[in-house]
Amino acid sequence: MAQTTPSAPFRNVVGGQLVDAVDGGTREIVNPATGAVIATVPEGNGADVERAVEAALAAKREWNETTPGERATALLKLADVMEGATDELGALESANTGKPLGMAKEEVEASADLLRFFAGAARNLEGKSAGEYIKGYTSMVRREPIGAVAGIAPWNYPLNMAAWKIGPALAAGNVQVLKPAEGTPLSLLRFAELANAAGALPAGVLGVVTGDGPNVGAKLVENRAFGLVSLTGDVRTGKTIAKAAADNLTRLHLELGGKAPVVVLDDADLEQTVAAIRVAGYWNSGQDCTAGTRIIATAKIYDRLLEALVPAVESLQVGDPAEGEQIEMGPVISAKQQQRAFGFIERATAAGATVLTGGGNGAGPAGGAFVAPTIVADVEQDSEIVQNEVFGPVVTIQRVDDYAQAIAFANDSRYGLAASVFTENVGRAMDAARRLEFGCVWVNDHLTPITSEMPHGGFKESGYGKDMSMYSLEDYTQIKHVAVRIGL
Ligand code: NAD
Repeated sequence: MAQTTPSAPFRNVVGGQLVDAVDGGTREIVNPATGAVIATVPEGNGADVERAVEAALAAKREWNETTPGERATALLKLADVMEGATDELGALESANTGKPLGMAKEEVEASADLLRFFAGAARNLEGKSAGEYIKGYTSMVRREPIGAVAGIAPWNYPLNMAAWKIGPALAAGNVQVLKPAEGTPLSLLRFAELANAAGALPAGVLGVVTGDGPNVGAKLVENRAFGLVSLTGDVRTGKTIAKAAADNLTRLHLELGGKAPVVVLDDADLEQTVAAIRVAGYWNSGQDCTAGTRIIATAKIYDRLLEALVPAVESLQVGDPAEGEQIEMGPVISAKQQQRAFGFIERATAAGATVLTGGGNGAGPAGGAFVAPTIVADVEQDSEIVQNEVFGPVVTIQRVDDYAQAIAFANDSRYGLAASVFTENVGRAMDAARRLEFGCVWVNDHLTPITSEMPHGGFKESGYGKDMSMYSLEDYTQIKHVAVRIGL
């Protein structure tokens, strides 16, 4: 099946203009399924950040003062532009990340839905009339935009993660400068270009600047123009940004990594559990912050689970998504990420672990960064492969004595983004949901129950702040108390 290959040129959008990098820098963008260069994009630096900040500040006052209805109209227009370009944006995303085309298109549709949710949310932002707390005064609480916010996005869901930032930022009345991950900017650049051409937003309200972390991301964080920086990325990047943001006491919204446990109890529905893990561990080649990567099964179900799970995982169709719609899993994002995944598996094996399936580069074409869907057993709870995010299609499985040990193992992690529990016992499920120290807990499913209306965000080192839902608007707004003296 032929897939659209990107057509040049790709340029940044700043102040309503399509622009090259100030210094003329460029970066080649690679398709990880083939290793081929598919596009060239601007490679910015501090000068590009300055230019984008200037444009954002020029638009800030007017946008901050728009009515909710005006912002809702703009967000609906953005959603229409995005949805109208689903085929093109999906094809770009697929070619740039190696993910199956159908999956990429679903992400475009989900992103348009999210923008529509925030169009409605803009009209539901409320302050409060608090009444008379001090004799002779009346109080009101205003919910106001922060002003200008910076967004820094990761490479695993490039357009979708950008949409998670655009929706609440703009709904709340903020202007925004967004930086995509340096290797995966194509879908966001094209979307910004299309939105600009459609006049969906006043010039400067949404700027896109490409470039890497140190030269562009760090400059955004340092810039005093921004009252909030929202990062989706690695825990290490979150810590670096938190230290840098401390200098200006800039607010942060951090959606970081995860190492989600899948707790399978003796009474779980085996078929349902296997089907869920087949998706949860390997969706997007395991490059998902909520990927179900740690299966923790109680003693009585462990053997039966493995017996069913190994063939199910081996049945995953792996290959270049350009081969056709039967491909369920593409490569990981780069040769570097591939080698990183292999390193985890090799070190685990050297320490006594057993690779039940996978472990190599699988069926992918030469030149592509493929990692076969992998299951690793006989791992220690304190081992690197159990404790650290691999960010590839690598799942560990552990046998535990009972429910109490399952919960203890699940919680024994520095991450706290998502977890799931599989059981037919409602009371047990509710108890597990309470005990699991994660921002998101699924019962009898994993990874897919994510929706625009519900919050998504972590505990512990998975970060703070919520994406999606009305809760995210808490992060993108600030509260002001106004006291008015009353009486004659
Ligand atoms: P990354 O941290 O390497 O990069 C994320 C972004 O930060 C990129 O745009 C990068 O250029 C930028 N960056 C890097 N160093 C920076 C610095 N010093 N200052 C400012 N910006 C900097 O992450 P990634 O590898 O692109 O994405 C994968 C990570 O994202 C995984 O850990 C994954 O779990 C996490 N993630 C989390 C969620 C969530 O909702 N919690 C969602 C998706 C991905």
